[in-house]
Amino acid sequence: TVPDYPQTLGHPRPLWMLFMTEFWERFAFYGMRWALTLYIVAEFFGGSPTGQAFASRTYGAYLALVYAAAVFGGYVADKVIGYQRSILVGAVVMSAGLFMIMLPNQDIFLLGLSTVIVGNGLFKPNISSMVGQLYGVGDPRRDRGFTLFYMGINAGALVSPLLTGWLASYFTDTPVQQNYKLVFLASGLGMLVSLVWFWIGRRQLKGVGRPLPDQANRMRVVYVLIGCVIAIPLVYLVMAKAGAVVLQWLLSILFVGLCVMLMIDGVREGKVQRDRVIAMLVIFVFNVLFWMFYEQAGSSFNFLAENIVDRKMFGGWEFPVGWFQSVAPLALVLLAPPMSMLWGWLDKRRLEPSIPRKFGFGLLGNAVAFVVLMYALSSLVDAQGLIPFWPLVLVYVLQTVGELCLSPIGLSMVTKLAPGRLVGLAMGGWFLSTGIGNNLSGIFAGHVSGTTGMTVASALSGFTFSFWLLGVAAVILLLVAPLINRLMHGVK
Ligand code: GLN
Repeated sequence: TVPDYPQTLGHPRPLWMLFMTEFWERFAFYGMRWALTLYIVAEFFGGSPTGQAFASRTYGAYLALVYAAAVFGGYVADKVIGYQRSILVGAVVMSAGLFMIMLPNQDIFLLGLSTVIVGNGLFKPNISSMVGQLYGVGDPRRDRGFTLFYMGINAGALVSPLLTGWLASYFTDTPVQQNYKLVFLASGLGMLVSLVWFWIGRRQLKGVGRPLPDQANRMRVVYVLIGCVIAIPLVYLVMAKAGAVVLQWLLSILFVGLCVMLMIDGVREGKVQRDRVIAMLVIFVFNVLFWMFYEQAGSSFNFLAENIVDRKMFGGWEFPVGWFQSVAPLALVLLAPPMSMLWGWLDKRRLEPSIPRKFGFGLLGNAVAFVVLMYALSSLVDAQGLIPFWPLVLVYVLQTVGELCLSPIGLSMVTKLAPGRLVGLAMGGWFLSTGIGNNLSGIFAGHVSGTTGMTVASALSGFTFSFWLLGVAAVILLLVAPLINRLMHGVK
């Protein structure tokens, strides 16, 4: 049962508190993300390109592990200390990690990143689960609430790199060396704002997410903190030592373990719950595919922007490659309100697509984005071997439309389909599937670039492959959607 919340702008009032908490956490996360590889090369390899491979590997492992850690964070919230306390501990640990990475020592830096991973694992899945707890079973506003929440995520992702990018290049004595310390400081401070926001605002939740009676003992928080201290060096080892392929095995084993745990609980709760878990796990697999190709934004698309896209504007001025990274969050913030209205409009006419259909459209949007690149790389290449910049912008916009059909709906879906006692763990599974997608994306992008770097031909064949895989997956999902829907037993 949901407490009787006051409503603000058509949604339970605590939604806006969670929105801002997540805004600041994503501000911290994305504010420093762009600087990681550049900083590693500059600080630990004296700017030599020989550091690029290590930097990329570390970055890929960091991203995969940040999402994989959500499995453990979700479990801690379900079984050990509850959601609110997990979020608070996660915020403290994550801030500590962000301040650690300012120190000019490679091992402390990597331990700092591991600390961010562990803290984020406790924070990220659980704040999303809390959004779901604000809406009653069958409340049609839930998907829209998640779409708004997702807008908060992307508002943070949009503004912080602009701010930290400016800080890094403005407060520096040498034009080449950017001030990365300031970037990490700004991120750490942003995370503290998130912590304080939630600390003060959590009263609005009226007890939702407080520890269950058997979890109330405060000593449990101390045990979780001890667990974090033990986990951090282990994460460090995996991040620094396991290559992408070993990591993929570890993530897959974790995924199988998670499926087993959710299935055991589902079966125990009866046939309906078992079917719902199966439906959710099937959707997780499609989610891996979506992010595998979406996340080329940080790899292949970046190399494309740098080497194959004509970025010259008026008067010969070239706009920075990094600017492309703002296109997706900007498009998302602009498109989220109309999209959320569209769901509401369709719902009133009983035309709202089912969850698996929305996922199918999400994959389709992502597939169509690659058609644009295929067209550009086969028909728009000029005499210098460059393509215009607008196709890449269009790619980001189309992928974002797909993302809006799939990602907020996925978060919402988990809170509807997971067994009640394991919502946190299931949310962790959702993020783990993103993490697996990220990792595969890195492996795939590596193939596209090969040993000699990306060429028009290798990009064209890589993106054609991406289109076919996404397109076929989308068609399959749209076709089997009614079957999956039946497994959901009335959950919409
Ligand atoms: N942009 C999303 C975020 O930062 C991506 C996460 C996900 O679910 N794949 O939260």
